[in-house]
Amino acid sequence: MIPQNRITSNLFELAKGVSILQVAQELGFDLKKQGQNYVATCPFHTEKTPSFMVFPGTNSFKCFGCGEYGDVITLVAKVKNISPLQAAKELAGDIPPVNAIQLTKIRQERQAGQDLKEIRDHVYQRLCVIYRAIHLAVTPENLGTDWMSYWIRRLPAIEEALDNLSSENVELQIKTLSHGGIKKLCGL
Ligand SMILES: [Zn+2]
Repeated sequence: MIPQNRITSNLFELAKGVSILQVAQELGFDLKKQGQNYVATCPFHTEKTPSFMVFPGTNSFKCFGCGEYGDVITLVAKVKNISPLQAAKELAGDIPPVNAIQLTKIRQERQAGQDLKEIRDHVYQRLCVIYRAIHLAVTPENLGTDWMSYWIRRLPAIEEALDNLSSENVELQIKTLSHGGIKKLCGL
């Protein structure tokens, strides 16, 4: 029998690995870059001057106006007014899309090296986060669960994509970024 609390804690680990920056963008925050971090107007209190900060480095947020703070799970739970468990489930099963327009641009302008580098770096980081999160969540207790099986089935494709994206071969990078499985995984 699988201890329920063990499954739940690993689900939370997986969810915590999802990029808060992407999630915040997905949720419609008007983020502006400020040094290493991003600032937006706070959804939890009324304000004119943005004081809601997103910290990609620690994958967390804090509002310096009203004091709300937390991780990516807390953010989704509070914004959508759902439980942290429900938020974790959404995050673990639903990878927020990276910018689809960017990928179209790459297809149209294959010579646009800078765009390619940006989206490659973005997808690479995204896959690294997913890869680490899956490994953290792999335990004998989790192996039978649907969500764990879902992620384990994607491991070989993720490993291959990471190899391809870190190669110097631009055509191979484009091919990888256009790969159906990887696009689906990254929401492209
Ligand atoms: Zn606030």
